[in-house]
Amino acid sequence: MWAVDDGIAVLRERGAKITAQRIAILKQLQGRKDHPSAETLYKELSGDYSTMSLATLYSTAQLLEEAGLIKILSIDDKRVYFDPDTKTHGHFLCQKCGKLFDIPVDEEAIFKTATAANNDIAQIEHTEIFFYGMCTDCLKI
Ligand SMILES: [Zn+2]
Ligand SMILES: [Zn+2]
Repeated sequence: MWAVDDGIAVLRERGAKITAQRIAILKQLQGRKDHPSAETLYKELSGDYSTMSLATLYSTAQLLEEAGLIKILSIDDKRVYFDPDTKTHGHFLCQKCGKLFDIPVDEEAIFKTATAANNDIAQIEHTEIFFYGMCTDCLKI
């Protein structure tokens, strides 16, 4: 997992402007495991940064994704979630409370199965695996 300084270095290398807001977004995302949504991040940051907007958040997130620092998860059609862990893993979304959990996946095995199942597929480079259901807390209610 990257540190804020690494993130700044990566952005600088790509010629991106380093603004106070971008640094704040990096700080807020660094090392996080809870996959905050754009709205959550906005709520957390808008107190300290009155000029922060959702548009700034989305455009910065786009920049961070292109730089390989985060993943933007499209697991939910209502909102996007940000994940600073870009190593391959799947995600589980509780459809009742919206909690999001990491799930380890064997990418190599899945790719092998997929390529073996269809001769037209020569090579797979990337996949997003989403699971939907209910978390234990929600099932108890
Ligand atoms: Zn739940
Ligand atoms: Zn994740």
